[in-house]
Amino acid sequence: MTKSEKLFERAVKRIPGGVNSPVRAYGSIGEAPRFIDRADGCYIYDVDGNRYIDYIDSWGPMILGHNFPAIRESVLKACENGLSFGCATEIEVEMAEFICERIPHVDMIRMVNSGTEAVMSAIRVARGFTGKNKIIKFAGCYHGHSDAMLVSAGSGVMTSGVPDSAGVPKGCTEDTMLAVYNDIGSVKALFEQADGQVAAVIVEAVGANMGVVPPCEGFLEGLRALCDQYHALLIFDEVITGFRLAFGGAAQYFGVTPDLVTYGKIIGAGMPVGAYGGRRDVMELVSPAGKVYQAGTLSGNPVAMAAGLTQLKYLYDHQEIYKELEAKGQMLYGGMEKIAREKGLKVQMNHISSLGSLFFTGQPVVDYVSAKTSDTKAFAEYFKKMLKMGIHMAPSQFEAMFLSAAHTDEIIMETLDAVKLVL
Ligand code: PMP
Repeated sequence: MTKSEKLFERAVKRIPGGVNSPVRAYGSIGEAPRFIDRADGCYIYDVDGNRYIDYIDSWGPMILGHNFPAIRESVLKACENGLSFGCATEIEVEMAEFICERIPHVDMIRMVNSGTEAVMSAIRVARGFTGKNKIIKFAGCYHGHSDAMLVSAGSGVMTSGVPDSAGVPKGCTEDTMLAVYNDIGSVKALFEQADGQVAAVIVEAVGANMGVVPPCEGFLEGLRALCDQYHALLIFDEVITGFRLAFGGAAQYFGVTPDLVTYGKIIGAGMPVGAYGGRRDVMELVSPAGKVYQAGTLSGNPVAMAAGLTQLKYLYDHQEIYKELEAKGQMLYGGMEKIAREKGLKVQMNHISSLGSLFFTGQPVVDYVSAKTSDTKAFAEYFKKMLKMGIHMAPSQFEAMFLSAAHTDEIIMETLDAVKLVL
C-alpha cells in the first residue's frame, strides 16, 4: 500500500469522500488520489516521493509556477506582522488601486475569500442595482457552489454525474434561467420570456468547467448587445481567465466590456482570495457605502493580499508571459492534436492560450450537450496512464489543463512524448 492509499483510507473516515473539494477524489478514476507533499516550478511531489509534471497548477492560481520565490518571500514577510487584524490595512488599498488603475472596466473592487463568494456577491449587487431578480447562466458554466448557481453547473458536479445538488431549495434557483453556451438565440429567447426581469447575464467568457470551450465569434459581443438592449448587467466570471488570457483577462482578450467581473485563483497566487468589481455606479451600492450587504471576517487578509499583489505586479511587469503562454499552448495542445490526428483517434482538442482540454468524442465540443458526448471511461484510462508516465492532469474530462510560465519547451516535449505513447 502506498502512503497516498493509507492517507486516503484515513481521510475517508473523517472527511466526506476523503477530500475537501470533490474533483480531488479521483472519483471517476477508481484510485486513491495522490496526496501532495510539496511543489516547485512545474513539478509536484506526492508523499510517496513521486514527481509529476503538473498541469493542474492548483486549478489556475500558479501561473508563474509553484513556490515562486518572490511570492513566497512576500508571504513570509507579511507573516512577521501578524496573520490577520480584521481591520483596514494599507495593502488592501494598494491592491484595489493596482487593479482599478490597470483594468479599464474595474472602477471599484471588493475582496472576498473565494470565487464562490465573488460570484454570489456580484449577483446580489446586480440584483440590488437593477431591482430585478432573474439571472441568465449557461449550462456547463461553473460559478462556484452558491445555491442559485448550482444549476447545470459543470465542473465537479458534472464529473460526479449528478445534474444538480441536493439541498438546494427550488426557490433558490427559481430565478436562474439556463441558456446554451455559444447560442445567442437561446439567450435572446430567455430575455423575451423574462419580460424585463433579467438582472444579469453571467458567463465564463471562456467556458473552462465543462472542459475548455472557447466562445464562438460574436457570442460575447451578442451578450453585450442583449444586456444593453434589456438593461441587464453583463458579468464576466473571470475566476479562471482573469490575469491569465491577458492581464485584463478575457475582457481584454476579446475586447468585450462587462459591467461586473469576478476574480479568484491568480489574484490570490494560491492563497484563498476572490474579488468582484466593475462599474462605480454599481459597486457603490455595496455595504457600507450602499444597501447591498456583503462582508467577510478574513476578506482582504494581509498575507493573502501580499501573495496576490506580488503575483499581479510581476505579471503586469512581465506581460511577455502572455505571448509565451500562447506559444506554449500552441506547442502543447497543437502537438496533442497532431498526435491524435496521426493516430486517427476520435478526439477534440479544444484550447485557447494556456488552457486546453482533450475531449474523447468525435463531435466538436461547443457547449454542455456536446461536452457530455465524451467517453469518460476512455478519459479515465488516458488519465491513469499519463499519471503513471509522471504527468499530473485534472482527473476529470470536464476540467481544464493549465500551463504556467514554469512549463518550458523541454517539459512540453517530454509531455508530448508521453501523450504519444499513451494515446
Ligand atoms: N467561477 C469559476 C469560473 C471557477 O472556475 C470557479 C472554481 N473553479 C469558481 C467560480 C469558484 O471558485 P472557488 O472554488 O474559489 O469558490
